[in-house]
Amino acid sequence: MVDVRFDAGRRRLDLRIDFAKGARFRCPECGVAGCKVHDTELHTWRHLNFFEHEAYLSARVPRVICPEHGVKQVQVPWARERSDFTLLFEALVMALAKEMPVKAIGGLVGEHDTKIWRVVHHYVDLAVEAQDLSETEQLGIDDTSFRRGQDYVSVFCDLDPGERRAVFVCEGRDQQTVEQFAGFLSSHGGDPENITEVCQDMSQAYLAGVREHLPGAEVTFDRYHVKQKLSEAIDTVRRAEAKQHKELLKGTRYLWLKRPENLSVKQLDWLDELLLQPLDTVRAWEQALKFDDFYELRDPAMAEEYLRRWVAEAKATELEPLIKFAEMLEAHWDGVIRWHQTRVSNGLLEGLNSLIQAAKRRARGYRSARNYKTMIYLVAGKLNPGPQVT
Ligand SMILES: [Zn+2]
Repeated sequence: MVDVRFDAGRRRLDLRIDFAKGARFRCPECGVAGCKVHDTELHTWRHLNFFEHEAYLSARVPRVICPEHGVKQVQVPWARERSDFTLLFEALVMALAKEMPVKAIGGLVGEHDTKIWRVVHHYVDLAVEAQDLSETEQLGIDDTSFRRGQDYVSVFCDLDPGERRAVFVCEGRDQQTVEQFAGFLSSHGGDPENITEVCQDMSQAYLAGVREHLPGAEVTFDRYHVKQKLSEAIDTVRRAEAKQHKELLKGTRYLWLKRPENLSVKQLDWLDELLLQPLDTVRAWEQALKFDDFYELRDPAMAEEYLRRWVAEAKATELEPLIKFAEMLEAHWDGVIRWHQTRVSNGLLEGLNSLIQAAKRRARGYRSARNYKTMIYLVAGKLNPGPQVT
């Protein structure tokens, strides 16, 4: 029995569903048919809009008396327990959540975003828990902050070419995060002993965690993070030198940090002029270009020799930031060289970072680690969370 009320003024469509008098239901606990209705409670669910009108579904939800289980509330087929939305409405929310910030969805459908977050958390949590990690062997670990430079989360990624997705996210970026991952892996069909490769930045915390909790893993230091450290060194040289050569080096930061092929013609002309100057920044920059070539070499045996020579040259520049970088390479030698065997990188995580950064800007902050973690699973987990609707 359905009653439809349409209120054009309030732009609202109300559908009332009721069961026939004397109807009997199955017990939600054991499924036995023919239970009598004990009492009912009126409930309203938000449904998909009908054109520009908000649509609501109302029904008396019966509680039945099962001879075995006593008084039990019947589960309605169009909504999940304790939700104010129908499954179809939640499916719409989840489809939108993959494409736009939660706050914007709230505005679009006219619901407070905390209610939208509740739906998103529910389905993402289910999908995260349902993961099967029995095949996970190659792992990428990276950190990302959800408030500028503070409140970090660690992202663990399956780097297998067929997967390439975030499988576990947790708060912090210390050694314990790896322990947490190992526990999660074990409880989702995987085995920490099966992890053979780990790609990470040069952080001691992750390294110590991997040694302890993923004992079968060889570590490759992620090339983008290694180059990031070198970029920082170049920038330190430039900033120190800019104190004496203010006019010359003013506004040149990106000229030194970008690859020449990524500069505009105008910037290239500017760079060409600067390269004629006897600057420390120029020497450091030239050394950095040579470092890039390390990753272009085809022969792993040659690569090690090349890097050894590069380290010697970097030290010979007598530029403190470059010397420090060279020493860091020496301290992480095997994992830097190992790239030439494994060719693994956290490029996926870098791509993820740019997605997260964009979403973060649009949503003006996620307010909590919980929301941030959920968003990472959603954009980088390939989980496809949402209700089963047919
Ligand atoms: Zn029962």
